[in-house]
Amino acid sequence: MLRAVKVRIYPNKEQRVQLNKTLGAYRFVYNYMLDLKQKEYKESKKDLSRFDLNSVLTKLRKDENCLWLSEVNISVLRQSIRQMLVAYKNFFKEHRGFPKFKSRNNVQTALFPINSISKKNTFERKTITLTKNLEDIRFRCSEEFYSRLKKYKDGLKGATLTKSKSNKYYLSILIEIDDSEINLLPHTKKDVGIDLGVKDFVITSDGEFFENKNFLTKKEKLLKKLNRQLSKKKNGSNNKNKQHLKIAKLHDKIANKKDYYVHEVVNKLLSNYDNVYMEDLNVKGMLRNHKLAKAISEVGFYKFRNLLETKAAENAKNVGFIDRFYPSSKTCHNCGYIKNDLTLNIRKWTCPECGMEHNRDVNAAINILKEGSRLAMEGVTVEKVTKKKAATTKKKTVKKTDDSTTKEAVTVVSEVSA
Ligand SMILES: [Zn+2]
Repeated sequence: MLRAVKVRIYPNKEQRVQLNKTLGAYRFVYNYMLDLKQKEYKESKKDLSRFDLNSVLTKLRKDENCLWLSEVNISVLRQSIRQMLVAYKNFFKEHRGFPKFKSRNNVQTALFPINSISKKNTFERKTITLTKNLEDIRFRCSEEFYSRLKKYKDGLKGATLTKSKSNKYYLSILIEIDDSEINLLPHTKKDVGIDLGVKDFVITSDGEFFENKNFLTKKEKLLKKLNRQLSKKKNGSNNKNKQHLKIAKLHDKIANKKDYYVHEVVNKLLSNYDNVYMEDLNVKGMLRNHKLAKAISEVGFYKFRNLLETKAAENAKNVGFIDRFYPSSKTCHNCGYIKNDLTLNIRKWTCPECGMEHNRDVNAAINILKEGSRLAMEGVTVEKVTKKKAATTKKKTVKKTDDSTTKEAVTVVSEVSA
Protein backbone atom coordinates (compact mmCIF):
# COMPACT_ATOMS: atom_id res chain seq x y z
CA MET A 1 0.00 0.00 0.00
CA LEU A 2 1.20 3.50 -0.80
CA ARG A 3 1.76 5.82 2.10
CA ALA A 4 3.08 9.35 2.24
CA VAL A 5 5.74 10.40 4.67
CA LYS A 6 5.87 14.12 5.15
CA VAL A 7 9.15 15.70 6.15
CA ARG A 8 10.24 19.27 6.51
CA ILE A 9 13.46 19.94 4.65
CA TYR A 10 16.10 22.48 5.62
CA PRO A 11 18.01 23.35 2.46
CA ASN A 12 21.23 25.33 2.64
CA LYS A 13 21.65 28.42 0.50
CA GLU A 14 22.72 26.64 -2.68
CA GLN A 15 20.05 24.00 -2.33
CA ARG A 16 17.45 26.67 -1.76
CA VAL A 17 18.43 28.35 -5.00
CA GLN A 18 18.15 25.04 -6.82
CA LEU A 19 14.81 24.18 -5.21
CA ASN A 20 13.45 27.56 -6.24
CA LYS A 21 14.72 27.03 -9.76
CA THR A 22 12.99 23.67 -9.86
CA LEU A 23 9.69 25.11 -8.62
CA GLY A 24 9.94 28.00 -11.06
CA ALA A 25 10.73 25.75 -14.00
CA TYR A 26 7.96 23.36 -13.04
CA ARG A 27 5.47 26.20 -12.98
CA PHE A 28 6.81 27.64 -16.22
CA VAL A 29 6.55 24.35 -18.09
CA TYR A 30 3.08 23.70 -16.70
CA ASN A 31 1.78 27.09 -17.82
CA TYR A 32 3.63 27.09 -21.13
CA MET A 33 2.31 23.68 -22.13
CA LEU A 34 -1.22 24.41 -20.95
CA ASP A 35 -1.23 27.57 -23.01
CA LEU A 36 0.24 25.81 -26.02
CA LYS A 37 -2.28 23.01 -25.84
CA GLN A 38 -5.17 25.45 -25.67
CA LYS A 39 -3.88 27.53 -28.56
CA GLU A 40 -3.17 24.57 -30.81
CA TYR A 41 -6.61 23.26 -30.20
CA LYS A 42 -8.26 26.60 -30.95
CA GLU A 43 -6.26 27.23 -34.09
CA SER A 44 -5.91 23.85 -35.71
CA LYS A 45 -8.09 21.52 -33.61
CA LYS A 46 -4.94 19.57 -32.96
CA ASP A 47 -4.87 17.78 -29.63
CA LEU A 48 -1.22 17.76 -28.53
CA SER A 49 -0.21 14.52 -26.80
CA ARG A 50 2.28 13.98 -24.04
CA PHE A 51 4.73 12.83 -26.66
CA ASP A 52 4.31 16.07 -28.63
CA LEU A 53 4.72 18.22 -25.55
CA ASN A 54 7.77 16.30 -24.38
CA SER A 55 9.51 17.03 -27.63
CA VAL A 56 8.53 20.69 -27.33
CA LEU A 57 10.20 20.62 -23.93
CA THR A 58 13.37 19.10 -25.34
CA LYS A 59 13.57 21.91 -27.88
CA LEU A 60 12.83 24.55 -25.27
CA ARG A 61 15.71 23.36 -23.14
CA LYS A 62 18.05 24.03 -26.05
CA ASP A 63 16.61 27.47 -26.79
CA GLU A 64 19.03 30.11 -25.65
CA ASN A 65 16.28 32.12 -23.98
CA CYS A 66 15.31 29.15 -21.85
CA LEU A 67 18.66 27.70 -20.96
CA TRP A 68 17.80 27.86 -17.29
CA LEU A 69 15.35 25.03 -17.93
CA SER A 70 18.27 22.74 -18.66
CA GLU A 71 19.45 23.22 -15.07
CA VAL A 72 16.40 21.33 -13.85
CA ASN A 73 16.02 17.56 -14.07
CA ILE A 74 14.12 16.64 -17.21
CA SER A 75 12.01 13.91 -15.58
CA VAL A 76 10.67 16.48 -13.13
CA LEU A 77 9.73 18.80 -15.97
CA ARG A 78 8.09 15.95 -17.87
CA GLN A 79 6.12 15.24 -14.74
CA SER A 80 4.84 18.81 -14.88
CA ILE A 81 3.49 18.09 -18.36
CA ARG A 82 1.91 14.89 -17.13
CA GLN A 83 0.27 16.71 -14.24
CA MET A 84 -1.10 19.37 -16.55
CA LEU A 85 -2.52 16.70 -18.85
CA VAL A 86 -4.28 14.99 -15.95
CA ALA A 87 -5.90 18.30 -15.00
CA TYR A 88 -6.80 18.86 -18.63
CA LYS A 89 -8.34 15.44 -19.02
CA ASN A 90 -10.30 15.80 -15.79
CA PHE A 91 -11.81 18.96 -17.12
CA PHE A 92 -13.49 17.05 -19.95
CA LYS A 93 -14.14 13.84 -18.11
CA GLU A 94 -15.33 15.00 -14.75
CA HIS A 95 -16.16 18.62 -15.39
CA ARG A 96 -13.76 19.64 -12.69
CA GLY A 97 -13.18 23.11 -14.02
CA PHE A 98 -10.66 24.29 -16.52
CA PRO A 99 -7.05 23.83 -15.41
CA LYS A 100 -5.78 26.93 -13.72
CA PHE A 101 -2.44 28.44 -14.53
CA LYS A 102 0.03 28.09 -11.70
CA SER A 103 0.75 31.36 -9.96
CA ARG A 104 3.97 32.24 -8.18
CA ASN A 105 1.89 33.73 -5.38
CA ASN A 106 0.36 30.44 -4.32
CA VAL A 107 1.87 27.54 -2.49
CA GLN A 108 4.47 26.16 -4.89
CA THR A 109 4.67 22.47 -5.69
CA ALA A 110 6.66 20.17 -7.92
CA LEU A 111 6.43 16.41 -8.28
CA PHE A 112 9.59 14.36 -8.44
CA PRO A 113 8.76 11.11 -10.21
CA ILE A 114 10.39 7.86 -9.19
CA ASN A 115 13.18 8.03 -11.76
CA SER A 116 14.28 11.49 -10.66
CA ILE A 117 15.04 10.46 -7.09
CA SER A 118 18.47 9.12 -6.26
CA LYS A 119 18.63 5.39 -5.52
CA LYS A 120 21.46 5.93 -3.06
CA ASN A 121 19.37 7.25 -0.18
CA THR A 122 20.00 5.28 3.01
CA PHE A 123 18.66 7.92 5.42
CA GLU A 124 21.28 6.90 7.99
CA ARG A 125 21.91 10.59 8.40
CA LYS A 126 18.78 12.69 8.23
CA THR A 127 19.39 13.83 4.69
CA ILE A 128 17.80 13.09 1.36
CA THR A 129 19.14 13.27 -2.16
CA LEU A 130 16.70 13.96 -4.95
CA THR A 131 18.28 14.86 -8.28
CA LYS A 132 21.95 15.41 -9.10
CA ASN A 133 22.06 19.02 -8.01
CA LEU A 134 19.88 18.47 -4.97
CA GLU A 135 22.05 16.31 -2.77
CA ASP A 136 22.04 15.66 0.96
CA ILE A 137 19.28 18.03 1.97
CA ARG A 138 18.73 17.96 5.71
CA PHE A 139 15.24 17.03 6.90
CA ARG A 140 13.26 16.46 10.08
CA CYS A 141 10.21 14.32 10.78
CA SER A 142 8.62 12.18 13.46
CA GLU A 143 10.45 9.07 14.72
CA GLU A 144 7.76 6.86 13.21
CA PHE A 145 8.23 8.40 9.78
CA TYR A 146 12.00 8.26 10.13
CA SER A 147 12.09 4.55 10.82
CA ARG A 148 9.69 3.96 7.95
CA LEU A 149 11.97 5.85 5.60
CA LYS A 150 15.00 3.82 6.64
CA LYS A 151 13.15 0.54 6.33
CA TYR A 152 11.68 1.28 2.91
CA LYS A 153 14.57 3.23 1.43
CA ASP A 154 14.34 1.09 -1.72
CA GLY A 155 10.60 1.55 -2.07
CA LEU A 156 10.39 5.29 -2.73
CA LYS A 157 7.78 5.95 -5.40
CA GLY A 158 8.03 9.69 -5.80
CA ALA A 159 7.97 12.90 -3.83
CA THR A 160 6.09 16.16 -3.86
CA LEU A 161 8.04 19.26 -3.01
CA THR A 162 6.04 22.08 -1.46
CA LYS A 163 7.08 25.59 -0.57
CA SER A 164 4.68 27.34 1.76
CA LYS A 165 3.86 31.00 1.58
CA SER A 166 6.11 31.57 4.54
CA ASN A 167 9.01 30.00 2.62
CA LYS A 168 9.15 26.67 4.40
CA TYR A 169 9.96 23.61 2.34
CA TYR A 170 8.34 20.21 2.72
CA LEU A 171 8.63 16.89 0.96
CA SER A 172 5.84 14.39 0.88
CA ILE A 173 7.57 11.12 0.03
CA LEU A 174 5.51 8.28 -1.34
CA ILE A 175 6.49 4.84 -0.13
CA GLU A 176 5.25 1.38 -0.95
CA ILE A 177 4.90 -0.43 2.35
CA ASP A 178 3.72 -3.89 3.38
CA ASP A 179 0.01 -4.14 4.02
CA SER A 180 0.77 -6.10 7.14
CA GLU A 181 2.52 -3.11 8.59
CA ILE A 182 -0.50 -0.92 8.43
CA ASN A 183 -2.44 -1.13 11.61
CA LEU A 184 -6.07 -0.85 10.69
CA LEU A 185 -8.35 0.70 13.24
CA PRO A 186 -10.29 -1.99 15.10
CA HIS A 187 -13.78 -2.87 13.99
CA THR A 188 -16.25 -2.05 16.74
CA LYS A 189 -19.58 -3.00 15.15
CA LYS A 190 -20.89 0.37 16.31
CA ASP A 191 -22.45 3.07 14.15
CA VAL A 192 -22.83 6.76 14.77
CA GLY A 193 -24.68 9.74 13.35
CA ILE A 194 -22.95 13.11 13.47
CA ASP A 195 -24.28 16.61 13.19
CA LEU A 196 -21.93 19.41 12.23
CA GLY A 197 -22.27 22.75 13.88
CA VAL A 198 -20.66 26.08 14.35
CA LYS A 199 -20.56 26.33 18.14
CA ASP A 200 -19.68 22.69 18.46
CA PHE A 201 -17.80 21.28 15.53
CA VAL A 202 -19.14 17.74 15.69
CA ILE A 203 -22.00 16.37 17.80
CA THR A 204 -22.56 12.61 17.89
CA SER A 205 -25.70 10.57 18.35
CA ASP A 206 -24.09 9.24 21.55
CA GLY A 207 -24.10 12.75 22.96
CA GLU A 208 -20.40 13.44 22.53
CA PHE A 209 -19.38 16.99 21.65
CA PHE A 210 -16.22 18.07 19.84
CA GLU A 211 -15.92 21.77 20.38
CA ASN A 212 -15.05 24.25 17.71
CA LYS A 213 -11.69 25.48 18.86
CA ASN A 214 -11.81 28.83 17.03
CA PHE A 215 -8.13 28.81 16.21
CA LEU A 216 -8.51 31.81 13.95
CA THR A 217 -10.63 33.90 16.31
CA LYS A 218 -8.08 33.41 19.03
CA LYS A 219 -5.36 34.92 16.88
CA GLU A 220 -7.56 37.54 15.30
CA LYS A 221 -6.33 40.45 17.41
CA LEU A 222 -2.74 39.62 16.61
CA LEU A 223 -3.55 39.29 12.91
CA LYS A 224 -5.30 42.65 12.88
CA LYS A 225 -2.35 44.23 14.60
CA LEU A 226 0.11 42.74 12.10
CA ASN A 227 -2.04 43.89 9.20
CA ARG A 228 -2.26 47.39 10.61
CA GLN A 229 1.51 47.50 10.86
CA LEU A 230 1.74 46.20 7.31
CA SER A 231 -0.36 49.01 5.90
CA LYS A 232 2.00 51.58 7.41
CA LYS A 233 5.09 50.17 5.75
CA LYS A 234 6.39 51.49 2.47
CA ASN A 235 5.51 49.54 -0.66
CA GLY A 236 8.36 47.41 -1.89
CA SER A 237 10.43 48.06 1.20
CA ASN A 238 12.34 45.34 2.98
CA ASN A 239 10.25 45.92 6.08
CA LYS A 240 7.06 45.38 4.18
CA ASN A 241 8.34 42.06 2.88
CA LYS A 242 9.34 41.02 6.36
CA GLN A 243 5.89 41.91 7.64
CA HIS A 244 4.27 39.88 4.86
CA LEU A 245 6.33 36.91 5.94
CA LYS A 246 5.33 37.36 9.57
CA ILE A 247 1.66 37.28 8.60
CA ALA A 248 2.14 34.25 6.36
CA LYS A 249 3.85 32.43 9.23
CA LEU A 250 0.96 33.12 11.56
CA HIS A 251 -1.50 31.84 8.95
CA ASP A 252 0.60 28.70 8.61
CA LYS A 253 0.55 28.17 12.32
CA ILE A 254 -3.23 28.52 12.54
CA ALA A 255 -3.71 26.16 9.59
CA ASN A 256 -1.45 23.55 11.18
CA LYS A 257 -3.32 23.65 14.46
CA LYS A 258 -6.62 23.32 12.65
CA ASP A 259 -5.29 20.42 10.62
CA TYR A 260 -4.09 18.63 13.68
CA TYR A 261 -7.44 19.03 15.38
CA VAL A 262 -9.39 17.77 12.37
CA HIS A 263 -7.14 14.70 12.32
CA GLU A 264 -7.74 14.16 15.99
CA VAL A 265 -11.54 14.26 15.65
CA VAL A 266 -11.51 11.96 12.60
CA ASN A 267 -9.26 9.47 14.37
CA LYS A 268 -11.49 9.41 17.42
CA LEU A 269 -14.63 8.85 15.38
CA LEU A 270 -13.14 6.07 13.27
CA SER A 271 -11.57 4.38 16.28
CA ASN A 272 -14.97 4.13 17.93
CA TYR A 273 -17.30 3.48 15.01
CA ASP A 274 -17.46 1.42 11.81
CA ASN A 275 -20.17 3.42 10.04
CA VAL A 276 -20.40 7.17 10.31
CA TYR A 277 -23.46 8.93 8.93
CA MET A 278 -23.68 12.61 8.23
CA GLU A 279 -25.73 15.11 6.30
CA ASP A 280 -24.57 15.94 2.86
CA LEU A 281 -24.27 19.59 3.76
CA ASN A 282 -24.19 22.14 1.06
CA VAL A 283 -21.30 24.02 2.52
CA LYS A 284 -21.13 26.41 -0.39
CA GLY A 285 -24.72 27.43 0.17
CA MET A 286 -24.01 27.95 3.82
CA LEU A 287 -20.98 30.03 3.00
CA ARG A 288 -23.18 32.49 1.18
CA ASN A 289 -24.78 33.33 4.49
CA HIS A 290 -22.30 35.85 5.83
CA LYS A 291 -22.99 35.33 9.49
CA LEU A 292 -22.35 31.64 9.24
CA ALA A 293 -19.65 31.93 6.63
CA LYS A 294 -16.79 32.97 8.82
CA ALA A 295 -17.52 30.41 11.47
CA ILE A 296 -17.92 27.64 8.92
CA SER A 297 -14.86 28.34 6.87
CA GLU A 298 -12.95 28.51 10.10
CA VAL A 299 -14.15 25.12 11.19
CA GLY A 300 -12.91 23.44 8.04
CA PHE A 301 -15.86 21.24 7.10
CA TYR A 302 -14.44 20.37 3.69
CA LYS A 303 -11.20 19.19 5.14
CA PHE A 304 -13.01 17.23 7.80
CA ARG A 305 -15.27 15.50 5.35
CA ASN A 306 -12.49 14.63 2.90
CA LEU A 307 -10.27 13.30 5.60
CA LEU A 308 -13.09 11.31 7.16
CA GLU A 309 -13.86 9.66 3.85
CA THR A 310 -10.21 8.93 3.01
CA LYS A 311 -9.40 7.52 6.41
CA ALA A 312 -12.59 5.46 6.50
CA ALA A 313 -11.73 3.91 3.14
CA GLU A 314 -8.22 3.09 4.31
CA ASN A 315 -9.57 1.33 7.36
CA ALA A 316 -12.37 -0.55 5.62
CA LYS A 317 -14.93 1.62 7.35
CA ASN A 318 -17.72 3.61 5.82
CA VAL A 319 -19.10 7.14 5.69
CA GLY A 320 -22.74 7.38 4.60
CA PHE A 321 -24.53 10.55 3.61
CA ILE A 322 -28.16 11.44 4.07
CA ASP A 323 -30.07 13.98 2.05
CA ARG A 324 -29.46 17.47 3.33
CA PHE A 325 -33.18 18.23 3.09
CA TYR A 326 -34.06 15.54 5.59
CA PRO A 327 -35.53 17.39 8.63
CA SER A 328 -33.05 15.94 11.12
CA SER A 329 -33.33 18.77 13.63
CA LYS A 330 -37.10 19.14 13.53
CA THR A 331 -38.02 15.49 13.95
CA CYS A 332 -38.41 13.97 17.40
CA HIS A 333 -36.23 10.87 17.25
CA ASN A 334 -38.47 9.13 19.76
CA CYS A 335 -41.94 9.44 18.21
CA GLY A 336 -41.36 11.06 14.82
CA TYR A 337 -43.28 14.25 15.60
CA ILE A 338 -42.12 17.12 13.38
CA LYS A 339 -41.72 20.47 15.09
CA ASN A 340 -42.08 22.89 12.21
CA ASP A 341 -41.56 26.06 14.24
CA LEU A 342 -38.08 25.08 15.40
CA THR A 343 -35.83 28.06 14.70
CA LEU A 344 -32.05 28.14 14.68
CA ASN A 345 -31.78 29.79 18.08
CA ILE A 346 -33.70 27.06 19.91
CA ARG A 347 -31.02 24.79 21.36
CA LYS A 348 -33.32 22.67 23.56
CA TRP A 349 -36.91 21.62 23.07
CA THR A 350 -39.52 19.29 24.48
CA CYS A 351 -41.59 17.12 22.18
CA PRO A 352 -45.28 18.07 22.59
CA GLU A 353 -46.28 14.58 21.46
CA CYS A 354 -44.24 12.25 23.67
CA GLY A 355 -42.78 14.72 26.17
CA MET A 356 -39.15 13.82 25.51
CA GLU A 357 -36.59 16.55 26.09
CA HIS A 358 -34.15 17.16 23.29
CA ASN A 359 -30.81 18.77 22.86
CA ARG A 360 -31.23 20.09 19.35
CA ASP A 361 -27.94 18.78 17.95
CA VAL A 362 -27.91 15.39 19.65
CA ASN A 363 -31.49 14.79 18.49
CA ALA A 364 -30.41 15.70 14.96
CA ALA A 365 -27.43 13.34 15.16
CA ILE A 366 -29.66 10.48 16.31
CA ASN A 367 -32.02 11.11 13.38
CA ILE A 368 -29.07 11.18 11.02
CA LEU A 369 -27.96 7.82 12.38
CA LYS A 370 -31.46 6.38 11.95
CA GLU A 371 -31.91 7.70 8.44
CA GLY A 372 -28.38 6.74 7.44
CA SER A 373 -28.80 3.18 8.68
CA ARG A 374 -32.14 2.91 6.90
CA LEU A 375 -30.64 4.07 3.61
CA ALA A 376 -27.69 1.72 4.04
CA MET A 377 -30.05 -1.20 4.64
CA GLU A 378 -31.93 -0.35 1.48
CA GLY A 379 -28.69 0.10 -0.39
CA VAL A 380 -29.45 3.69 -1.26
CA THR A 381 -26.56 6.07 -1.58
CA VAL A 382 -27.14 9.77 -1.62
CA GLU A 383 -25.44 11.36 -4.55
CA LYS A 384 -23.00 13.81 -3.20
CA VAL A 385 -23.57 17.51 -3.55
CA THR A 386 -19.99 18.18 -4.53
CA LYS A 387 -20.24 16.00 -7.61
CA LYS A 388 -23.52 17.45 -8.74
CA LYS A 389 -22.24 20.93 -8.08
CA ALA A 390 -18.99 20.36 -9.86
CA ALA A 391 -20.85 19.55 -13.03
CA THR A 392 -22.75 22.80 -13.04
CA THR A 393 -20.48 25.40 -11.49
CA LYS A 394 -17.27 25.55 -13.39
CA LYS A 395 -15.95 28.73 -11.93
CA LYS A 396 -16.12 27.66 -8.36
CA THR A 397 -14.36 24.39 -8.85
CA VAL A 398 -11.42 25.81 -10.73
CA LYS A 399 -9.56 26.25 -7.49
CA LYS A 400 -9.64 22.57 -6.83
CA THR A 401 -7.97 21.48 -10.03
CA ASP A 402 -4.44 22.10 -9.07
CA ASP A 403 -4.85 20.37 -5.85
CA SER A 404 -6.78 17.39 -7.02
CA THR A 405 -4.29 16.54 -9.70
CA THR A 406 -1.52 16.55 -7.19
CA LYS A 407 -3.58 14.25 -5.06
CA GLU A 408 -4.28 12.01 -7.97
CA ALA A 409 -0.70 11.71 -9.04
CA VAL A 410 0.41 11.06 -5.55
CA THR A 411 -2.56 9.28 -3.96
CA VAL A 412 -1.46 10.80 -0.76
CA VAL A 413 -2.78 9.31 2.35
CA SER A 414 -2.26 11.97 4.89
CA GLU A 415 -1.21 11.13 8.35
CA VAL A 416 -0.59 13.36 11.28
CA SER A 417 3.08 13.97 11.48
CA ALA A 418 3.74 14.57 15.09
ZN1 LIG B 1 -41.71 12.82 20.48
